[in-house]
Amino acid sequence: MTCGPDEAPLPVRVTRPTPFLDRLPPPVQPLPRWRVDLTPPDIAPWRAGNCGIPGVMHYEGRRPGPHIVCVSLIHGNEFAGAIVLDRLLRARIRPRSGRLSFIFANPEAMDLFDPRDPIRARCVEEDMNRVWSPATLAGSRAAHELDRARVLLPVILTADRLLDLHSMLWPGDPLILSGLATAGREMAQRIGGVATAVADQGHPSGCRLIDHPRFSDEGPAAACLLEAGQHWHESTVSRAMQAVMSLIGPCCGLPVPASGTSVPQRDMMVTDVVTARTGAFRFVAPFRGGQVLPARGTLVAHDGRDEIRTPYDRCMLVMPNLRPARGHTAVRFARAASSPA
Ligand SMILES: [Zn+2]
Repeated sequence: MTCGPDEAPLPVRVTRPTPFLDRLPPPVQPLPRWRVDLTPPDIAPWRAGNCGIPGVMHYEGRRPGPHIVCVSLIHGNEFAGAIVLDRLLRARIRPRSGRLSFIFANPEAMDLFDPRDPIRARCVEEDMNRVWSPATLAGSRAAHELDRARVLLPVILTADRLLDLHSMLWPGDPLILSGLATAGREMAQRIGGVATAVADQGHPSGCRLIDHPRFSDEGPAAACLLEAGQHWHESTVSRAMQAVMSLIGPCCGLPVPASGTSVPQRDMMVTDVVTARTGAFRFVAPFRGGQVLPARGTLVAHDGRDEIRTPYDRCMLVMPNLRPARGHTAVRFARAASSPA
């Protein structure tokens, strides 16, 4: 099945008409197993911070320049980025120009890490990457991650270039995510060590750090989110280091290693966010993130009575969540994008 560029996309979600099929249990796929090769870094020297904000290490160069902010531990069990920042701090890197901030966003979540139950340490109370809308931050609700976001906000509001370091639970190609704003998409094109750039509008369930208006409004400030690889693999640390070095190397007078100079070759745009409407969302195969399904209309998953199908040819699956909870993002669909203006 093929379609021309002008052919209208197919609906992503189709409710199955056959009542008989509704009584069949959803197909269950065996899950890939994950490996835990990393241990959380000892970030004790940085917990108090050096600028009045716990977990924030801030340095200023002699010459003017942008404020570059690298963020780790928005998710406590994704500590590859914290390993990178810890290594760079121990190496005493400093900016020659501009300002540089390294953030350990949620050490209390990382403290919960237990390799026998490695998912648990993602947060203390709630997903810290869904709390960044100004209304949520300004509201009266209190929670560990939300309160921590409020404490970090002064750094975020002065960032000119922000790289938020994450990793992935399920297998998939590393990618650099930006919002739709021009500055963020252009920043993504210059991040080293990762082959795929993806622009998207975020998640209906809440505002990510990179979606804060500081970055999502068209303006000079830019933010990207790196999904550097699987959570607890050494290769994820290497890739996150390449990405960070490609960003901070020039202002710190450090050479960017050759391995960090390969910038994204594949530029994608998310068109659809598929949210699990039931607790029985099941993919029909253990898809990998970055996998491209050639034909439109390909069955991807069942969600209760609904079938989820690809809306167009050459549809890329962005970070399929092989066991999504109800109300959570299960997968995003993306197609090749025209380059940012
Ligand atoms: Zn994450």
